[in-house]
Amino acid sequence: MKFPKILLAAIVVLGIVAAVAVNVPAVQDRLIGRVIRTNIDNHARVAQLFADDALRLLVCGSSSPLPSPDRARPCLAVIAGGRFYVVDTGSGSWNTMALLRMPGERIGAVFFTHYHSDHIGDLGELNMQTWVAGRPMPLPVYGPAGVESVVAGFQQAYALDAGYRTAHHGADFLPPALGMMQAHVLTVPDDGTPATAFEDGALKVSVFAVDHAPIHPAVGYRFDYKGRSLVISGDTVKTQSVIDAARGADLLAHEAQNNDLVKRMHDAAELLGRTRYAKIFHDIPSYHTTPVEAAEVANAAGVPLLLMYHLTPPPPNRIAERVFLRGVSKIRDHGVVLARDGMLIELPLAGGEARVSELR
Ligand SMILES: [Zn+2]
Ligand SMILES: [Zn+2]
Repeated sequence: MKFPKILLAAIVVLGIVAAVAVNVPAVQDRLIGRVIRTNIDNHARVAQLFADDALRLLVCGSSSPLPSPDRARPCLAVIAGGRFYVVDTGSGSWNTMALLRMPGERIGAVFFTHYHSDHIGDLGELNMQTWVAGRPMPLPVYGPAGVESVVAGFQQAYALDAGYRTAHHGADFLPPALGMMQAHVLTVPDDGTPATAFEDGALKVSVFAVDHAPIHPAVGYRFDYKGRSLVISGDTVKTQSVIDAARGADLLAHEAQNNDLVKRMHDAAELLGRTRYAKIFHDIPSYHTTPVEAAEVANAAGVPLLLMYHLTPPPPNRIAERVFLRGVSKIRDHGVVLARDGMLIELPLAGGEARVSELR
């Protein structure tokens, strides 16, 4: 009995010392200095993410239009050949990337799946931040028809800001030409067959039409790099073109919306007289894919790993995640991952299984 009492006393004394210490300016300065260094130093992170030994997918936004305290709206960053390629720039996604200490100057391009607001919200921020970080070129932005007007609109909205920054920091440091975006309109066959969207060395990006009617065009992408491959569905109902694109791929990132939960949200909104919300929750099941259907797509394609993202509603905790995935294990008892912001999936170029981890 004696030892625990001593231990308890030691803990109390340590607690008192710590409580006093955090009020000492020298201690505060030391702690703050450590945090500042940690937040700014990204050398280890860059070495980890950009080593040319894997095709990587980083979740920079796992949510959907519905709000979430810890999930940005849709954004997936594919890392290959020393650069990262951002598929959709949902609101909050740059913040997620910045917190993860992503090197903005290494951006290769942006790819849009379609132009719903939850997919484009951070384009201006991403362009500005990667320019400030030292991007050596105008930002290439790829997408189906419509990308030119989205890019022109963001460019106009941020024109004053770009001018302020060059005026403040100098044109040598922030050349206006490098702060621009360049829209590239992709030609996408309507029948779902893939077309080449982009090639750079060993990296090939293909684009294919999906079914997000009445939104047209809407597309998904496949990234192939040195024998590894991943497919991103974009927003779609369960559709054959995703199955075809994902055949032989190592990873399928598929949108997922739990319609049982959406129905409960509809009923609650109706009960509470929030009729506009009730109308929206009534309408959205018609153009998304349920978690069970996403698993069916992955099974039909024979893809070993399924990452569900664009989560509607975004699950706020582990219990909600289990409810979200109800019924999935009956048809697919392995190879299912629910995206969280900061999740990293690595496909080693040497072969072998995907590695799933979470960055902080
Ligand atoms: Zn969406
Ligand atoms: Zn959409």
